[in-house]
Amino acid sequence: MPTFKLAMHPASEGDALMLTWGDAKLHYALVDLGRTGDYKALKPLLGNIGAFELFTISHIDADHIEGAVPLFKEEVLPFKARNVWFNARYQLNAANKRMTERVDLGAIQAEKVTAGIVKSKWPWNAQFASSIVSLDSPEARAPLTFDGDLRLTLLSPSDRKLAELLPVWDAELKKANLRTADPDEVEASLAEGREQLSALNVAFLAAQKFQIDTTKPNGSSITFIAEFDGKRVLMGADSHPDIIEASLCRLGASETNKYRLDCLKVSHHGSKANTSPALLKIIDCTRFAFSTDGSRHHHPDAETIARILANDPGRKKTLIFNFRQNSTSQWDDDELKKKWNYECLFPEAGKTGIEFDI
Ligand SMILES: [Zn+2]
Repeated sequence: MPTFKLAMHPASEGDALMLTWGDAKLHYALVDLGRTGDYKALKPLLGNIGAFELFTISHIDADHIEGAVPLFKEEVLPFKARNVWFNARYQLNAANKRMTERVDLGAIQAEKVTAGIVKSKWPWNAQFASSIVSLDSPEARAPLTFDGDLRLTLLSPSDRKLAELLPVWDAELKKANLRTADPDEVEASLAEGREQLSALNVAFLAAQKFQIDTTKPNGSSITFIAEFDGKRVLMGADSHPDIIEASLCRLGASETNKYRLDCLKVSHHGSKANTSPALLKIIDCTRFAFSTDGSRHHHPDAETIARILANDPGRKKTLIFNFRQNSTSQWDDDELKKKWNYECLFPEAGKTGIEFDI
């Protein structure tokens, strides 16, 4: 029986995701490492697995990259990666050079993850002759294959989205690498923008005007569809929906020819600015996965889940969460589930994170 699973490990407000595929022999891919403490908790499991076909660091936000800093500080790395995908300053510059209109650059600053990858000697962006993981690299025009017959189709980023990150790279990376969670700051951010929703009015929330995420680090996210044994999962990272829509359209998706997905790992932890109604209209998907403990940004936003539910009222949908927290448990409501035709999956009692068949 072939296996194809997605695990969403505890990663604070971020991602530490793992794909497992294969038949007699299992293969693994790791996508992001959450924050420092999340990597430390995950380290024994990563060590047991020992080898990953692919380790992707989707982008430089702390909730995705911070755990990679202590990883690369290890005297002996706890696992091997046969391929690493990460767009560092070098690739951003190269993407900028490849474009006709260039963006202005900020100052150069060496950084730890880049140095760590170099030291690891893991093949870095090796499937791309330019070394840029980008839609504008010719290798991204067809699916890339990995041992055990996994196919990845790149959906994001483009050279433009990478080049746009250059002017803020140093500041963003400093935030990601050097600053760890400050409890006071977490409190403040929670107290500030929390919206009080007396009851979840799905139709009202779904109808809120969509305002797209414009943050540059999220736009640089490496995002792909992983396909094995006829099943597909879209690993959304924190990508912007415009580039994902455009990529899916290039693959033939439209409102009348929706792109079939067996699971959508919803972008940016379910932020309301990253899953557009237009994107939902061109996919055929009933299972939606959210990775976040709700800290800092109280993700997932109710608007996102409302849009997902209202987009496809006729079919039974499944919402999959790796934490039971305020912003997720509010959806575990029998009346809402019945009215909007969905079910929720949460981590089993006594377990952290969640793993499921794709
Ligand atoms: Zn994130």
